[in-house]
Amino acid sequence: MAEEICNHILGITQVTPPTELVCEECAKNGSRWVHLRTCQTCGVTLCCDSSPQKHATAHFHASGHPVVISAEPGEKWLWCYADESFASYS
Ligand SMILES: [Zn+2]
Ligand SMILES: [Zn+2]
Ligand SMILES: [Zn+2]
Repeated sequence: MAEEICNHILGITQVTPPTELVCEECAKNGSRWVHLRTCQTCGVTLCCDSSPQKHATAHFHASGHPVVISAEPGEKWLWCYADESFASYS
């Protein structure tokens, strides 16, 4: 199974880890999240598409920042919203 890894992901030489394991937007309005993602452009940590508010996707649409990592402990992968490209890292 050959998968194309997009240039946004290939251009990331160092992964930006989450500063805190909370969704910054959910924390403001007291809503819940399921999983966390960290934006690799600005470093904000927001919630995934399984979460009611889908803040990470909203951030991509608002900012155009394409690549997030999973902020879940033990998960090491990147996702590009623009290209729907996925890559794991070590
Ligand atoms: Zn991309
Ligand atoms: Zn959220
Ligand atoms: Zn961002």
